[in-house]
Amino acid sequence: MDVPSSPKNTRKPIGFAPPFIDDDTIRAVERVLRSGWITTGPETAAFEKELAAYCGTDAAVCGGSWTGLAGGILDWFGVGPGDEVILPSYTYCATANVVLHRGATPVMVDLPSPLNQDGFNLTWDAVFPHLSARTKVIMPVDVGGWPTCIGDWTTKLEHWTTSHGFQANSEVQATLGRPLLLLDAAHSLGASIDGQSVGAQADLSVFSFHAVKNLTTAEGGAVTLSLPSSFDPTEVGKKLRMLSLHGQSKDAASKYHASGRDAWRYDVIAPGFKCNMTDIQAAMGRVALARYGADLEKRHTLADRYDAGFANWGPAHLPKRRDERRQTSDHLYALRLTDLIETERNDLIQQLREVDIAANVHFQPLPLLSAYAQRGHDPKDHPEALAAYACEISLPLHLHLEFEDVDRVIATVKRAHAVILSQRTPGSNPA
Ligand SMILES: *Cc1c(COP(=O)(O)O)cnc(C)c1O
Repeated sequence: MDVPSSPKNTRKPIGFAPPFIDDDTIRAVERVLRSGWITTGPETAAFEKELAAYCGTDAAVCGGSWTGLAGGILDWFGVGPGDEVILPSYTYCATANVVLHRGATPVMVDLPSPLNQDGFNLTWDAVFPHLSARTKVIMPVDVGGWPTCIGDWTTKLEHWTTSHGFQANSEVQATLGRPLLLLDAAHSLGASIDGQSVGAQADLSVFSFHAVKNLTTAEGGAVTLSLPSSFDPTEVGKKLRMLSLHGQSKDAASKYHASGRDAWRYDVIAPGFKCNMTDIQAAMGRVALARYGADLEKRHTLADRYDAGFANWGPAHLPKRRDERRQTSDHLYALRLTDLIETERNDLIQQLREVDIAANVHFQPLPLLSAYAQRGHDPKDHPEALAAYACEISLPLHLHLEFEDVDRVIATVKRAHAVILSQRTPGSNPA
């Protein structure tokens, strides 16, 4: 007798973003583990050089996470109570948390209206009305890997400052003479504007190497420096490294290599946090960076496949991936199904789950989350972000996928969508 087996048993599960760990990665980690030096040392220094070269910037500094580095940068710039940091409401909580950790005020900006002016990103015109005498930093986010900072935001900030002034309350702020452009590039390593990698456009750009990101060191991150010439990138890099290690003037490696009677001695220049990168992480990162061009190609090919599958399908609004000047890093395949309401979108994710396809939502606008609602951020002030979120679904996009997997995801999304429409109560039209 023919017993139809359930799809669950015959099909391989499709994860959302499982890490891609090849044999070279495992060998590199083993080499470091056997070397006798496992925390910040030669591997981290080499990874920093390679990242700076990859992004075409003066310098790069690695750390234990995006969050650790971004926080250190706010401390370096002297951001504290009374200061405002402009950021989108459409982002991950880390973007706002680092500001709250400093006692500063996150000014959450809704996505530009009407929606889809620049994918899920803020535009300069959306940011501009929120600039104030208290603005110390603006922190846009390259959502899904789509570059935000097109049209020279630092020059625009300089112009704004010329007419509005800038009240510097730290030495570093005085040197810059305007608000800092700090890019949340957690998603956008390898994305580009005019052929130039993301990392070189903003004053500072912070990448995340968390397990689900395009390039991973399990946990980790890096900042690339592209500050005006009034700053010495080597000195700033040193400062940021110190701030990631308790503000210690020498890390373990420099004490080890120092000579003379006082080789052991160090100062603490500021009460820093502890978020340095280990050489084990850096070894993973170096292997992944050497391979990254090919990884990106594969991501682009998979996302192209999604684009082709959803093109000309009425309800699908495809993510922004390329224009005349920009190229995404294809971190997320963030699809919007514009005829679904939020509960129907949730049903669709559940239907995918039932056939072992993992999907996610990027992002829940921050005012929907308790921590920010309690601080007075109101979803009502963010109608565009809510509209973008309600029908968004992020589909699997990672290096273990093959075309047939993508095709299965596309077919399942379309089938589930049809089921959802067929289940609507006759006469009602929620969308
Ligand atoms: C992942 C992520 C972060 C935080 O990165 P960590 O390395 O986990 O600290 C920040 N911003 C965005 C948009 C992210 O997706």
